[in-house]
Amino acid sequence: MSDADGRARLILELRRCGVADLRVLNAMERVPREFFVPPAFVHQAWENVALPIDCGQTISQPAVVARMTEALQVDDRTRVLEIGTGSGYQTAVLSYLCRRVYTIERHRELLGQAESRLAKLRRRNITARPGDGALGWPEQAPFERILVTAAAIDIPPNLSAQLAIGGIMVVPIGDDSANQCIVRVRREETGLDIEELGPVKFVPLISGRAGEAVSG
Ligand code: SAH
Repeated sequence: MSDADGRARLILELRRCGVADLRVLNAMERVPREFFVPPAFVHQAWENVALPIDCGQTISQPAVVARMTEALQVDDRTRVLEIGTGSGYQTAVLSYLCRRVYTIERHRELLGQAESRLAKLRRRNITARPGDGALGWPEQAPFERILVTAAAIDIPPNLSAQLAIGGIMVVPIGDDSANQCIVRVRREETGLDIEELGPVKFVPLISGRAGEAVSG
């Protein structure tokens, strides 16, 4: 199957799974997922599956990227904070849909690889840094949108505090991989409005020990 056939087939599959937002589908059609997967998995880049990347992490399943991006409701005026850059694939998708993406990754090695891929694709509206994303990015807060791409045990308090009033955070919540749910959090004047969007499987958000991965 050619790359173009693979792309078209995946986009159709996403539509069949219920992803209706054409901007999200267009962005996913434009981002060459084969750039973001290890060489051994390039032949599977346009399949609707999560794949392993370095440091024991994963590039998310396209259907999950699509659902979470759609749930985030971004537009070209939005500033988004993403936690867990990983391969940089989700970052690239967001970069086509919003004004600027701030992204944090605890593994320097993954961050370096992601930054060079994003530079090759000439994505210029991305600011990336290593660190513990559970702490957020206070210097750039508040954010209209926050997307967490690793599973947290609870809604990370530093992140909800850095959400603008009226802002939305999409975050997988759950303490074991068999029992996680995508949660959409809206910050209202009076508190947080929380909505469950369905089951999912993510690698864990590792917090408070970022020094181990970030130093060196
Ligand atoms: N969005 C990524 C998915 C990466 S998997 C993609 O499209 O490829 C989740 C990532 O979150 C991993 O790279 C992991 O190292 C990172 N991560 C886990 N805990 C983190 C934390 N506290 N701060 C920043 N990144 C974290």
